[in-house]
Amino acid sequence: MNLHEYQGKEILRSYQIPVPRGEVATTPGEARAIAERYGATVVVKAQVLTGGRGKAGGVKLARTPAEAEAAAERILGMDIKGHLVRKVLVTEAAEITQELYLGAVIDRAGRAVTMMTSPAGGIDIEEVAAKTPERIYRVAVNPFLGLLDYQTRELGFELGLDGRQVREFTRIAQGLYRAFAESDASLVEINPLAIGRDGGLVALDAKVVLDDNGLFRHVQLDARRDLEAENPAERQARELGLSYVKLDGTIGCLVNGAGLAMATMDVVKLSGGEPANFLDIGGGARADRVAAALRIILADQNVRAVLVNIFGGITRCDEVARGIVTALQEMPTGVPFVVRLVGVNEAEGREILSQANLITATTMREAAEKVVDAARRQATLAGARRGAA
Ligand code: GDP
Ligand code: MN
Repeated sequence: MNLHEYQGKEILRSYQIPVPRGEVATTPGEARAIAERYGATVVVKAQVLTGGRGKAGGVKLARTPAEAEAAAERILGMDIKGHLVRKVLVTEAAEITQELYLGAVIDRAGRAVTMMTSPAGGIDIEEVAAKTPERIYRVAVNPFLGLLDYQTRELGFELGLDGRQVREFTRIAQGLYRAFAESDASLVEINPLAIGRDGGLVALDAKVVLDDNGLFRHVQLDARRDLEAENPAERQARELGLSYVKLDGTIGCLVNGAGLAMATMDVVKLSGGEPANFLDIGGGARADRVAAALRIILADQNVRAVLVNIFGGITRCDEVARGIVTALQEMPTGVPFVVRLVGVNEAEGREILSQANLITATTMREAAEKVVDAARRQATLAGARRGAA
């Protein structure tokens, strides 16, 4: 689960990390009122669950309440990478001399949390990693000992900070690590961690991603989930208990089991296609859940063909077949389906599907090749239709 910047900053504040005061506004008038109350230059910032807001024009400096109102007017309603801006954060502006980066991520290979920092803050850390990887400094945190002072001092000196700043940096890094560990996060990032005119450090942005599997321990955070700002398909899938991740390709995949889902995506790619999603209906899915999963897949405008790859065990092939037939009756579609059912009640499943107009396959490779081919033909058809119109 992704948090908004203002929510992430609340967490940082609760760990005594310096964050300029700020409040959320949903109208230009509210933004103006906040700026008036602060009586200072403010920054008006789009609150959307994506980064790169600055570049997209979603972060604006406002010297007067009238400017804050005008900035909010422009930013509210803006579309940033497919995210509609419904809220802005109005926060006191900091005068800054340098932008640093500080983040905690999970290093799966190292089986530890890694603290990362860079003097090249303000820009995407992915970009720094690609262009100047030598400007990123890392330490692995021992889960039993936590982040130790000597480690943060080392990072601080690598950043070129002076003694006082290194002490501040240590407090901030320790707070960030504790925030990460105690909220079961998979990412906590401050970018920029700015150096102010007075030489002090201040967190001007916050990106927090919580591990969904740990959310049951953080009911109060889960309750603050911004349903409006989430991807509607992903939200629906979560509510149904389906694991769904939208991807950029054209082949919708409906699979049971995460391992089979990944293998299916690999085979689709090997066969020259690109998956449109990762979707695991889980074990023992009944017809209604299969139908719901297909509705989510078919709602994706990029989907040109659907591959159903089911290994029947706890999940019975006839239930899956019934779900497919139900979904197709409810929403007739021109999108071709390739279905591979293997395992428990396979024959019954095939029997049910024989009434529907579907392509079937026996092996995974055959299924993948057929679906890639079907997607290509659909794309050509769509192109021809566009050309004729
Ligand atoms: P992002 O683009 O979505 O990462 O949004 P940020 O919150 O990081 O803001 C983008 C950029 O705006 C930062 O890298 C800073 O350069 C600038 N910025 C944000 N807040 C302030 C501020 O209080 N003072 C100054 N001078 N610049 C700021
Ligand atoms: Mn940022």
